[in-house]
Amino acid sequence: MTGTKVKLDARREKQVREAEELLFAGPQKLGVAKGLFLGRFVADWVTPYPKLSPEQEKAVNQSLLELRAFLDEHLDPAAIDRQADIPRHVIDGLARLGVLGMTAPLEVGGRGFSQMGYCRVMEEIGGRCASTSVFVNAHHSIGIRALLLFGSAEQKRRWLPPLTRGEQLAAFALTEPQAGSDAANVQTQARPSADGSHYILNGEKRYITNTAIAQVLTVMARTPVPGKKETAITAFLVTPDMEGFQLLEPRMEKMGLRGTATARLAFRDMAVPKENILGPLGKGLKVALTVLDFGRTTFGACTTGAAKTCLRLAVQYANTRKQFDRTLGEFELIKKKIARMAAYTYAMEALTTVTASLIDRGLEDYMLETAMLKVFTTEALWEVINETFQIYGGSAYFTDLPLERMLRDARINQIAEGANEVLKSFIALVGIRGPGQQLQELQDSLRHPWGEWRKMWLLGLDRVDAAVRTPVVPVKSPQLGRHAQRFGRLVRKFNLEVNRALFRYREEILDCQLVQERLAQAAMELFASASVLSRWDAEISSGQGAHKNGTSQSAADLFLRGSARRTEQALAELHDNDDAAVVATANRVLGESEIGR
Ligand SMILES: Cc1cc2nc3c(=O)[nH]c(=O)nc-3n(C[C@H](O)[C@H](O)[C@H](O)COP(=O)(O)OP(=O)(O)OC[C@H]3O[C@@H](n4cnc5c(N)ncnc54)[C@H](O)[C@@H]3O)c2cc1C
Repeated sequence: MTGTKVKLDARREKQVREAEELLFAGPQKLGVAKGLFLGRFVADWVTPYPKLSPEQEKAVNQSLLELRAFLDEHLDPAAIDRQADIPRHVIDGLARLGVLGMTAPLEVGGRGFSQMGYCRVMEEIGGRCASTSVFVNAHHSIGIRALLLFGSAEQKRRWLPPLTRGEQLAAFALTEPQAGSDAANVQTQARPSADGSHYILNGEKRYITNTAIAQVLTVMARTPVPGKKETAITAFLVTPDMEGFQLLEPRMEKMGLRGTATARLAFRDMAVPKENILGPLGKGLKVALTVLDFGRTTFGACTTGAAKTCLRLAVQYANTRKQFDRTLGEFELIKKKIARMAAYTYAMEALTTVTASLIDRGLEDYMLETAMLKVFTTEALWEVINETFQIYGGSAYFTDLPLERMLRDARINQIAEGANEVLKSFIALVGIRGPGQQLQELQDSLRHPWGEWRKMWLLGLDRVDAAVRTPVVPVKSPQLGRHAQRFGRLVRKFNLEVNRALFRYREEILDCQLVQERLAQAAMELFASASVLSRWDAEISSGQGAHKNGTSQSAADLFLRGSARRTEQALAELHDNDDAAVVATANRVLGESEIGR
């Protein structure tokens, strides 16, 4: 074995150990996504399509009414982009409307909205101005989230009220020069002071939204672990008035989201009281990942809002712009774009609603679903914006229309809060863990058939059941029967392919990103299809969706057809692909053909 391989194996083992400790804390209910990997459809999490309670519906509608009136009058996204700043009166107005503490409990000054209700609000803001929605998210979805989830009663009482009322603003500081996608590689050090009353922080953070306007930052730093040589990440509450806090670059000049203040900052011998530790000492990575899980739900809502805006703009233009004596909408290639945009937008909204409801209904482990939502919606929005841009032709390129700004703003979505490549790997690897464990246990039991016969019998039954039984998708409307049956067959097929991949690659699958991507792609399509089926079924039952000449229903139908085809394709490519050629070519191009597979 080469030295490089030994090092890689050791690193991988360490990563797997860390992930085990971080992500799989104990017995939890089976969620939708993990169920799909096991060949099951856990219908209760998806159907019936989630609805707000009548009181919440009323409160959310009232908030939306006020918000729309405020945004119509005060929000100028083009000026925000041009001036690279969100005016204070906009921030104050959002604070007055309760937007900056919407999901926080009433007792700390919040509005007590559910995640689903909050997503409706964020969809509205995201549909108008990405800078503003990212500012709100950095404050509310991730800035105060660690306090809400992990703060002690005393910390919540002390820190939250001014933050939820928007008198103070928050930021979340994880990223560093050496810790981007590899969040566990945080280098900022926090060593205890001699008397143990403080931690002394040294290090640098970069790309941190809201820093220049925030009064409270959740900062991740490495602390010693008593009795061990290793250090572990801990979350700290930091205020910019602490001595040693340095704002190196308050507003880094950037391509999009120009209204947000994104900073580079440093801590030089900055003393932070030990009372400012958030959550357990050494568990900061868990804190950070949980916070980001929450943040990803609002990614879904904001991208849905932006997609709806694009669709509206595209339809307007396609119906009015004439070339060759016909409106653009009369050309089939433009129809195709509009139809696909409508289908994706419908699915984005459904997926966001279902994912948010998982949090509201207390599913403890929703990390796969939020990762799927983030990847699916950010990739869908990119396509939707790009197609709208194409329909507008040359005019999209000029700054008097919002499209070039929307395109610039949207590009970061596939990178921030978990690059999509990293999340696809994550989805596949966490997803296959369940079936992988079952198969491993089955294999182990087969070695000792007499001692473990009962376990073997049960595991075998479960595997055989998943292989032969097509999951039932409980739709009420007979009109959806064919789609539901096709979906069930695809879940079964997906599980068979997961098992095949596990047999074929065994432990090596941890390094097979091309295989992981296809499994993740298929799983995301299945989750999106389940959400669309559920939404469509609810609309048929309630008589909604028939308005607008059945637009909703044809968008849903089109999505389900396309999604099934994309799932089949991802699974077929597990067997028929150019992976070896891809890797060989890349290795040659990278000039290091001895590295890699
Ligand atoms: C405008 C903006 C605002 C931000 N706000 C915040 C904030 O408020 N708080 C905060 O903490 N951070 C923030 N970030 C940081 C953001 O989350 C990181 O940029 C992101 O995590 C990616 O890290 P990186 O930029 O260092 O890219 P890298 O980690 O260097 O990755 C570069 C690319 O490599 C690829 N890649 C990386 N790892 C893998 C892998 N394992 N497999 C395959 N491909 C891989 C991906 O394509 C990725 O896009 C912000 C960034 C921007 C641009």
